[in-house]
Amino acid sequence: MSGSRENGKPILERGQVLLAAVGPWSAAALTLAVGMLVHTALERDATKRYQQHIRSKVVRAVATVRGGTEVAINKRVFLTLALKYHVSVNPGISSEEFESFASLLMREVKGIRSLTLIPNNKITDVYPRKGNESAIGLNLMTVPSQRDAALRAIATGNQQLCGPVDLKQGGRAFINRAPVNVATSTNSQFAPGDYWGMVSVLIDYDELVGEIQEYVPGDLEIAIQTQGENPTFLVGSGAIKQAHPLATEVAVANDVWRLYVAPRDGWPVISPGASSRQVHALVFSGLAALLVFLLVRTTARYLRAGSELRLASSNAQRISGVLEKTARMAQVGGWEFDIVTQQITWSDEVCRIHDRPSGFRPDLEEAIKYYAPSARSTITGAIEFAIERGEAWDIVLPLVTANGREIWVRSNGEPGYENGKCVRLWGTFQDVTHVHVAQQQMRLTQQAIDSAEDAIFFLDPLGQILFANAAGRRHLGQPDDVTQLNMCDFDTELSPGSWQEKIKLLQRDAKCEYESQLRSVSDTLIDCDVRLWFVESEAGQQIVASFRDTSRAKREAELRDVLFELSSDAHLLFDKTGIIECNQAAVEMLRMKDKEQVLASHPAEFSPEFQPDGRLSLEKCKEMDELAYENGTHRFDWMYRRPDGEEFLCEVSLYSVQLESGRALLVVWHDVSERKKVIDKLAASNLELQQFAYVASHDLQAPLRGIANFAHFLKEDYPTQLDVKGADYIDRIVKGCKRMQHLISDLLSYSRVDGRARPFEPVDLNHVVDQVIEILEPSIVDSNGLVTRDDLPTIAGDASQMLQLMQNLIGNGLKYHRDGVPKVHVSVEQRGLCSVIRVRDNGIGIEAEAQDRVFEIFKRLHTQDEYPGTGVGLAICRRIVEQHAGEISLESVPGDGSTFSFTLPRRGQPQSVEIEKPPIAVEINVATEKV
Ligand code: ADP
Repeated sequence: MSGSRENGKPILERGQVLLAAVGPWSAAALTLAVGMLVHTALERDATKRYQQHIRSKVVRAVATVRGGTEVAINKRVFLTLALKYHVSVNPGISSEEFESFASLLMREVKGIRSLTLIPNNKITDVYPRKGNESAIGLNLMTVPSQRDAALRAIATGNQQLCGPVDLKQGGRAFINRAPVNVATSTNSQFAPGDYWGMVSVLIDYDELVGEIQEYVPGDLEIAIQTQGENPTFLVGSGAIKQAHPLATEVAVANDVWRLYVAPRDGWPVISPGASSRQVHALVFSGLAALLVFLLVRTTARYLRAGSELRLASSNAQRISGVLEKTARMAQVGGWEFDIVTQQITWSDEVCRIHDRPSGFRPDLEEAIKYYAPSARSTITGAIEFAIERGEAWDIVLPLVTANGREIWVRSNGEPGYENGKCVRLWGTFQDVTHVHVAQQQMRLTQQAIDSAEDAIFFLDPLGQILFANAAGRRHLGQPDDVTQLNMCDFDTELSPGSWQEKIKLLQRDAKCEYESQLRSVSDTLIDCDVRLWFVESEAGQQIVASFRDTSRAKREAELRDVLFELSSDAHLLFDKTGIIECNQAAVEMLRMKDKEQVLASHPAEFSPEFQPDGRLSLEKCKEMDELAYENGTHRFDWMYRRPDGEEFLCEVSLYSVQLESGRALLVVWHDVSERKKVIDKLAASNLELQQFAYVASHDLQAPLRGIANFAHFLKEDYPTQLDVKGADYIDRIVKGCKRMQHLISDLLSYSRVDGRARPFEPVDLNHVVDQVIEILEPSIVDSNGLVTRDDLPTIAGDASQMLQLMQNLIGNGLKYHRDGVPKVHVSVEQRGLCSVIRVRDNGIGIEAEAQDRVFEIFKRLHTQDEYPGTGVGLAICRRIVEQHAGEISLESVPGDGSTFSFTLPRRGQPQSVEIEKPPIAVEINVATEKV
């Protein structure tokens, strides 16, 4: 107590002194004045602090909104680049490939209306196709509104962001176009490469602006204005300039926008609550005026303390607000898991990321369930490791929010200890979907580049390698670190000086192409077509160099040339302009001076006027060419004529080929003059043989008849001198001669069925069969047989051969029977363009294994005593049928009869057939018995 009295004493004393000095009213007035003065000073301070706070808040908001705007627009713009690079290494991208790649890109970034492929400035593909069909086929150069932007993109080689424009489909959108250049395999050095076309991405205006607005705190307003010739406000209006906004530049694609940020209610002139505080000050000052100096001073102190307290509390609130806003902008939240109570606490941002209301508190099981099924074991394992081993984690995992959004989060956590025991886990939680998607897209693009067959390098302007794909690393011999290498050391054609020239060419033409050799670290040289072009990256301009290995193609071309040149067959390639290429064999076959002479000739010069079949060469040649074009290939014999007039026969193969310049025909001539000579020789010797047989038959006939006659006279004139044995010998001689006569006669008939082409005539088979019945009447009467026929057709053939054919078959039908009445029936069946004629009998039939043999010459199944004959009849039948381009066959059941069937072309079908016939061994002419 004494202490407090002592503490209060000096104050009291000083107050008394002051009160004594100024008097109670003066003290009161003074107290009032001082009170108000103090209040004013405090208010000014508070206002200043508040203004500073608001300004720094706006400054931070400017940075956040700028960053957010750049992320929002550039991640969409990035899709254009991803599509551009994908197309530049896959210029022949199919509709399906484009659709799958575009759908992948669109799935990852929201707010994209469509992706478009525009090869040669003409729209060929839009994804999604639905609703955009009308755009297909549109040529940008014919649409004035698109033409300028497209030309700008082509001229600069850079992407062009345009818009926003009103869409026919409704809504508004930005169009980002990027020109695409692709590597070509042209051989010309430094020739400008091909401009492939463009790709474009339609960015939804509302979605984009909506996303930007998410970064703007509620009490601030923003405006975004494009720059350039016609600055327009994309967000907000020019009115914001009246509000003294803070401004900054936003870098988007090829453009720079201007961002204005200002407090929604204007910049503050007083701090909040100032008027109420003024009333308080007056009241307190008035009260104080009624009190003593000490009370006034105490009141003043109290007032100051109260003001400080309020300020501190408002500061604390502001700091907490700032923290919360910062967390929201960075999309980072905090969480804590109390192991003892098993309670989880989520910050507002963590709740927002999970699409849950602020203050939501899940249990551990529910919190884990938000992770995608594939990620749950990972997060559970991380939690267990943290509790048991004290290990922190920092991992990116997929998560499905309460609203079903599929996102990627970065989860970070570590254990917290009390008295050496882990009692809680806590950490941060961040939505990293955009970053993750961008990384995935980057990986995808890298994979596409990595899997390309061409070696692809990214270089800085000095040739330093920044990146090499798998083929590039392989070509360089798999060095440890490609980024330590400079392309000038490997591209053998490039010295540092010439590299500068290439860069100049690149700057002038946007690309540069040449042939070169790539040297690997092991000094192997690979022939390559090289192509250089620029790409823009965040790190600045880079050069892409693609090396296409041409060594294999060159080797193959060389081999083709060797085969072409060394072939002994003449090869000529010609199109509508004439002969465009030929090999050495063609020069030699035509006996020309050199290749140039052949190339200067017209193919028609190498044929005589007529071909051996009598057709005009020109006319037939046209027909052959057309057949080759139609069927891809055509083969035939052709008579050629050398410039010196000598003719030679070739087997010709025509192949239709597609060259870059158009359709052409490859003609391969295989000289068959030698083969033809052999065939002609054979035919001549065959003819000789036939003539010999004819002559021999005449010469043989006379002595044979003589022997038979004299033997007969011997028996007639000397019946008494001959005993029984002698008479039997004579009988045998006569019988042998007769048999010999039959054999010679049949052989002659066989030889007469020659293979020479002969004009066929209409032959009525009814008439033929009737004639045969007449000829065979004696045997029919003898055997008491019966020959019948259907109504038979008229065929195209040789009438006398038809008679021989029918007579042999019907005769056999009557001959080869055992008991009962022999019956033969001739029928017909029409099959396509042929008639199938059947000769059926009810005779003895033929065993299955002998059925093929009976058509061979001299093949018989019976002795003369059983059934007389020579074994030539069926061989003649087969030869006649083949002569008529038909086939003969046999069906038979022993004991049940036989049916011989043969096909013949019907009347009006091909009138002559040419058959190569092998030379026969013996042909002898004797008077016929059989025919
Ligand atoms: P050939 O009648 O002069 O002996 P073919 O060449 O006409 O000579 O006949 C060959 C053989 O085929 C005959 O010897 C006979 O055995 C058999 N053959 C031919 N036609 C018939 C038939 N209709 N029925 C049974 N066997 C037959």
